[in-house]
Amino acid sequence: ESRTGDAAALLERRERHLAAVQEHYFADPPVIERGWRHHLFDTDARPYLDMVNNVAAVGHAHPRIADAVARQLNLLNTNSRFNYASIVEFSERLAALLPDPLDTVFLVNSGTEAVDLALRLSWAWSGRRDVLAVREAYHGWSDAADAVSTSVADNPQALETRPAWVHTLDAPNAYRGRYRGADAHRYAADAVAAIERMRAEGAPPATFIAEPFYGNAGGMPLPDGYLQAVYPAVRRAAGLCIADEVQVGYGRLGEFFWGFEQQGVVPDIVTVAKAMGNGHPLGAVITTREIADHYRSQGYFFSSAGGSPVSSVVGLTVLDILADDRLQENARVVGAHLKAQLEGLAEKHELIGAVHGLGLYLGVELVRDRTTKEPAPRETAMICDRMRELGVIVQPTSDRQCVLKIKPPLTLSRAGADYFVDTLDAVLTHGW
Ligand code: PMP
Repeated sequence: ESRTGDAAALLERRERHLAAVQEHYFADPPVIERGWRHHLFDTDARPYLDMVNNVAAVGHAHPRIADAVARQLNLLNTNSRFNYASIVEFSERLAALLPDPLDTVFLVNSGTEAVDLALRLSWAWSGRRDVLAVREAYHGWSDAADAVSTSVADNPQALETRPAWVHTLDAPNAYRGRYRGADAHRYAADAVAAIERMRAEGAPPATFIAEPFYGNAGGMPLPDGYLQAVYPAVRRAAGLCIADEVQVGYGRLGEFFWGFEQQGVVPDIVTVAKAMGNGHPLGAVITTREIADHYRSQGYFFSSAGGSPVSSVVGLTVLDILADDRLQENARVVGAHLKAQLEGLAEKHELIGAVHGLGLYLGVELVRDRTTKEPAPRETAMICDRMRELGVIVQPTSDRQCVLKIKPPLTLSRAGADYFVDTLDAVLTHGW
């Protein structure tokens, strides 16, 4: 059978029993069978450069993870009410990655769960419900995480269907938002004014939740000083500050292990997932002892698989690999090279309006006109399709779906980065 035959038959079966709302990449996707480092292989053994899998941060099919999981599965897998070493060691290692006073860990199974728990902690701590979130954000699919997810790319009705306790701030987008370039510092003043208004109206925010580096909007840094202004204003209103590091944390930014470091702040609650399990379902909330203790008012906390021996061993092994393979450093060096090459392409191709991001979290924003910044979502989709034909997996992001989102495994080599740039150059030169 031809690959297309296989792929089409598989898609048909997929559509029969998998909820249709669960989409797939590409209209005509290859059947992916194997991964290795930052490469994927289809059932014809065709290789693809993988520029989307930020979850497989230490690379696909890492043998150290496979070995550690096999060993632990052969030994023991149970729940966190038992006394075993790996959960203790993993919690110690996570706490050690964060500045004081963030020393207390909850282990869960996904980013959604981490965000949901972080919100509940802030409600329990403050005794209040109102939450402040930035627009164009995604934080998960559960009731609470979805309530604070404001991205219309993920849900076209997102802004009209927020519960009354969710209050939104302008997306602090310095490229195409209300304030641009040197004016971008004004987002912070607006945010502080919004917090003051909530206080005056008798509904001060229980919490402010944001990605500390603007992932969903296309890999943009928040304006300088943004969180340095917003966090203290939230705290003056007796609220807590949640940094959602699910996407941008864990070394991907290269220069920084956590996104909040780039902003020079320390949050009250940090949510982590994705990279920390390299695809195994792992999530965590890290906060202060005092905030964590307020969960008691909600009853006890238990997650059947959260922090299990297998999950803890995966988490520990990922941290070992990050360190031993020097992957944060690789993200810094290869990311800087890739960004410089992409900026070079922008000089050649009018369609590239801007290159955003840091480390191996980059966004190439495509526009039809550099002055009006008219988004180019159709072109972006077609470029992704053509790139796939040429052996590169990349996907659009942002509310306008006009940003090529670059978030490969942190193993990406300089040669891999060059292959991406050369392929994009060829597609932009010869058409899609
Ligand atoms: N927060 C952010 C910033 C995310 O990007 C995501 C996933 N895209 C989530 C939370 C939810 O994580 P999960 O898919 O593991 O539930």
